Amino acid sequence: MAFVQPLIFTVLTVAAFSMAGLRFKRIYENIRMGQPEPVKGSLRNMILLALGQKKMFRNLIPALLHLAVYTAFLLTQVELLEIFLDGFTGRHRLIYYAVQDSAFGKGLYIAIISGIEVLSLLAFAATLAFLARRNLLKVLRFVKSEMNGWPRLDGNIILYLEIVLIAAIFTMNGADEALHRAEGKGSYGFLLSGNAVWLLFSGFSPETLAVLERVGWWFHILVVFSFLNYLPFSKHLHIMLAFPNAYFTRVSGNGQMRNMPEIQREIQSMLDPSALSGEALPPPDQFGAKDVQDLSWKQLLDAYACTECGRCTAACPANQTGKKLSPRKIMMDTRDRMEELSLNRQKHGPDHQDGKALLGDYISTEELRACTTCNACVQECPVSINPLSIILELRRHLILDQSSAPESWTQMFTHVENNGAPWQFAQSDRDKWISQTEA
Ligand code: SF4
Ligand code: SF4
Repeated sequence: MAFVQPLIFTVLTVAAFSMAGLRFKRIYENIRMGQPEPVKGSLRNMILLALGQKKMFRNLIPALLHLAVYTAFLLTQVELLEIFLDGFTGRHRLIYYAVQDSAFGKGLYIAIISGIEVLSLLAFAATLAFLARRNLLKVLRFVKSEMNGWPRLDGNIILYLEIVLIAAIFTMNGADEALHRAEGKGSYGFLLSGNAVWLLFSGFSPETLAVLERVGWWFHILVVFSFLNYLPFSKHLHIMLAFPNAYFTRVSGNGQMRNMPEIQREIQSMLDPSALSGEALPPPDQFGAKDVQDLSWKQLLDAYACTECGRCTAACPANQTGKKLSPRKIMMDTRDRMEELSLNRQKHGPDHQDGKALLGDYISTEELRACTTCNACVQECPVSINPLSIILELRRHLILDQSSAPESWTQMFTHVENNGAPWQFAQSDRDKWISQTEA
């Protein structure tokens, strides 16, 4: 019967990775729905922003808490390697027994597992702090209206999973340590389970300890499989997508708006017709973006990489002054609309039109008009997301395709068109203020 456990483990592993793989494939296809956008690869950005979490350190305490969870997550992957080896072979602590005769190998193994234990303890404290921040302190950016329902639950689920995972790690290591000692083999030497946690299990019989160790082991791997499949449906996808998102950097500078060549040429012809050369550009099918497929692939990747942290919304002057606009909601709406469109296309075929659009059905004119284009949301985002670029594309569509603008804007546009400036007087009169001053 020794083959039963490896068999169950192998079946579960294949099932978990296959299901997650299908979901990741869907996300990749959804992002590819977007239009081309030139980007450059920046390893520096990826190391600083995604790996080093540079922007998080503007606020030290949350940054340190986040770092504890994040490094615990990264280092736990090393222990997972042994869990997979044990799972496939039916062995127990395969790596430990393979290196136990080498002082260096054994020392390194003990150091890594001890490091995981210390980080897991810190991550446990950080997880409790995050739960309190969301649910007891109700920090403003976590209780904005766009966080009602699933986004709030999503933020909590991952924290509960984290607690189960940490409990499983200490149950596994503590029971294993107590069993090791009960069998007369001494201590493994792990920092926390070898000195403190094992005492919680010291009163149990060897049979019970063996069961508890297996319970901890299976819970650990089952939480990992659940996490793997839950991640691509959750905002926690940022754990993975923050890396490509930070790597693919926009070519345009920070705060720089993308020119529309057709409009640029029109303006140039007004300012200096002699400077123009070549044929006039044909009018585009539409201006700006109405739906997600009109946005660029980088904007769609942004939407999936959003952590829903709300730092952009907290910094947004429009939101601070009570306007309906929240840059976080812009990103969440973009992702939700992408999901809806992709589901409909999967059900009804790739050319299916569901009669809905990001502009209007998800993001309202009122939200778009409230943006001051100050760029604060872009500046604040810890994972290089640009909500402003989406707002601008939707607003361009609203104004240039739907001719929807408030009266004050329409007057300004007319002045620009007629006078080459937003003011109400002709270009020829511009210098008059000089003569008035001299007089
Ligand atoms: S650019 Fe617009 S959305 Fe972003 S912070 Fe400024 S006002 Fe808010
Ligand atoms: S866009 Fe950036 S700052 Fe805003 S919620 Fe998403 S990750 Fe946070």
